[in-house]
Amino acid sequence: MSVGYDHIDLAACKKRNIAVGYTPGVLTDATAELAVALLLATSRRLIEGASAVKSGQWGSWSPLWMCGPGLLNSTVGIVGLGRIGLAIARRLRPFNVSRVLYTGRQPKDSAKEVSAEFVGLDTLLAESDFVVVSCAITPETTALFDRKRFAQMKRSAMFVNISRGAVVVQEDLVDALKNGVIRAAGLDVCTPEPLPVDSPLLALPNCVVLPHIGSAAEETRAVMSVMTAKNILAAFNNQPMPAQVKSPCLLNTSY
Ligand code: NDP
Repeated sequence: MSVGYDHIDLAACKKRNIAVGYTPGVLTDATAELAVALLLATSRRLIEGASAVKSGQWGSWSPLWMCGPGLLNSTVGIVGLGRIGLAIARRLRPFNVSRVLYTGRQPKDSAKEVSAEFVGLDTLLAESDFVVVSCAITPETTALFDRKRFAQMKRSAMFVNISRGAVVVQEDLVDALKNGVIRAAGLDVCTPEPLPVDSPLLALPNCVVLPHIGSAAEETRAVMSVMTAKNILAAFNNQPMPAQVKSPCLLNTSY
């Protein structure tokens, strides 16, 4: 009951003639909404601020206490302007960001709707105040964000990942956050999941980690459940599933 199927061994399924169903197209809005919430929680330090209230660190007013960068007039770089990336860009435009950059394998017609500029990854990292990762996980994107990539970003950059934990070399991200190579990170996905409580990421005040809740909107989960039930019923009836993974690994699957 998910849109991703990187956790499933498709070759093993093919070998055993097991069809694999998934839930494409219904998580986009919920995940984009969560990405914007995570971006703001990270940049405007919501988790740090709320825990300061609870632990009694809220003192008298101080000009720079709990400050972080706003979106107004900023440059947002989206790595992977697919369904979710585009939905994130739509939601960020009304914050009056000045530019939306994106990178991917090729320019997209849909980018016009959000006035997004296609650039190479090097340019996107050098020019973005907010780097939002919403690409698919592929051999090319696995471990894409390593020491070298973090060093290409602005020291003030906010890094937000809602795609998959495997796009990030997590030790390199920890070092970048500790050493001020980038300013902060917001992660809905990480490696491994669940993240052990002694992970160095959780000791960093400038890192917000969420438990992979991109699609956790109640309405979305209801739609996903119905899609999954329809897939299961179709499979039991030896029919093609309404939403069946069409992978080269599975082409010989008979239903
Ligand atoms: P899409 O397939 O619509 O978009 C994926 C995008 O990744 C495409 O635009 C593709 O660009 C881009 N891409 C592929 N390779 C690269 C690359 N080397 N560099 C930059 N971009 C690249 O998928 P969705 O938008 O629906 O989902 C995106 C990801 O979000 C999913 O793969 C999934 O892992 C994750 N996800 C996370 C959720 C969560 O709960 N946090 C929930 C749902 C999804 P191109 O078309 O040019 O190849």
